[in-house]
Amino acid sequence: MRLTKEQALDLIHNGDLKELGKMATARKRELHPKGITTFVVDRNINYTNVCWVDCKFCAFYRSPKADDAYVLTFEEIDQKIDELLEIGGTQILFQGGVHPKLKIEWYEDLVEHIHLKYPTITIHGFSSIELDYIAKVSKITIQECLSRLHAKGLSSIPGAGAEILSDRVRDIIAPKKIDSAVWLEVHREAHKLGIMSTATMMYGTVETDEEIVEHWNLIRDLQDETGGFRAFIMWSFQGMNTQLIQEHPEIQKQSSNRYLRLLAVSRLFLDNFQNIQSSWVTQGPYVGQMALLYGANDLGSTMMEENVVRSAGAGFRMAKEEMIRLIHDIGEIPAIRNTAYETLEKFA
Ligand code: SF4
Repeated sequence: MRLTKEQALDLIHNGDLKELGKMATARKRELHPKGITTFVVDRNINYTNVCWVDCKFCAFYRSPKADDAYVLTFEEIDQKIDELLEIGGTQILFQGGVHPKLKIEWYEDLVEHIHLKYPTITIHGFSSIELDYIAKVSKITIQECLSRLHAKGLSSIPGAGAEILSDRVRDIIAPKKIDSAVWLEVHREAHKLGIMSTATMMYGTVETDEEIVEHWNLIRDLQDETGGFRAFIMWSFQGMNTQLIQEHPEIQKQSSNRYLRLLAVSRLFLDNFQNIQSSWVTQGPYVGQMALLYGANDLGSTMMEENVVRSAGAGFRMAKEEMIRLIHDIGEIPAIRNTAYETLEKFA
C-alpha cells in the first residue's frame, strides 16, 4: 500500500527514529537485495559563477562585473576532464550560474565538444533554471532547447534548483527562480525525450513539514507519469555565508537526527524511486554513512570539486578509498557505478 501524505507527515512527527531506519532498510533491501552500495567517480565542473538569479541561500554566484567572475574556456574544461579521466571518472556534474548572455549555440558547441572529445564521459548537466533561461534568452521553447542539447550529447540532467517545490517557499528564498511548475515541466519534457534526470530537495529554510511532503508528492506523481527519475537526493540548507540567514536568523541548523528521519520517510514515500543518495558533502562522511541505514543505497560521488557547496562552508572531501571503507564498515558491498546506476566495479 502506498503511503499517503498524511501518513508520511505522521511518520515525520511521531515515528520512532530507529523504527524508521528499520522500515527504510527493509524497503531498500526489497529494491537492492544484493547489499551493494554504489558511488560514482565524477567531478563537478561549474563552468561559470556568473548568475543573475541572486538566490538568497547561495554563496557561490557573482555578478558579471565582479573581479572573480569567470566563464571557463573549453581548454580549462578539457583540463578538468583530463584530470577526471586519470582517476577513472565517468561523469561530469556540469552546472553554472545562470549566465545572462550565453545562448543555445554556445551550449551546443560546448556539449558537442565534450561529447566528441570524451565519449566515455557522461554529461550530467544543466539545472532546470539554466535550461529554462537558455530557452528564453535564445527565444526557443524548452522542448527545442532540450532536444538540441540532447542531439549534441546531453543525456542526463541533475535535479538542482528544486529546493522545495512550493512557490510560497521559493518566493522567500529565491524569488527570481523558476516556480515549481516550471521545474517539473523541464523534467517532464526531458523525460519525454529520453533524457533521464534526478530529483533533489533542499530543506531547512522556511518550509513546513507539509511542504516537504508535498514536494515528495509532486516528484512521485511525475515519476508515475514518466519514470524518468533515476534517483532522489536531499540535503539540508548550508547557510553560513548567505543572505538568507541574515534576513531569517530564525533558521536553525538542521540536526543529523532530522536528516536521517526525513531520509527514511522519503524512502518509504517515494516508492517508485529505485535509488536514494546519501549527501555526505553536506552531512559529513559519518552521517553520510549512517544514511545507508536509513534508506540510502548510494553514497553519491567522490566530488573532486564542488564550489557551490564549499563556498557555503561545507568543505568535506572524501577519496575513493574512504568511500569504500565507509561502505564496508556497515557490512555492505561497495561498487562504482555510472550515471545510469549500472555497476562498473565491485570491491567485495
Ligand atoms: S543557486 Fe544557482 S541559480 Fe541560485 S544564485 Fe546560486 S548559482 Fe544562481
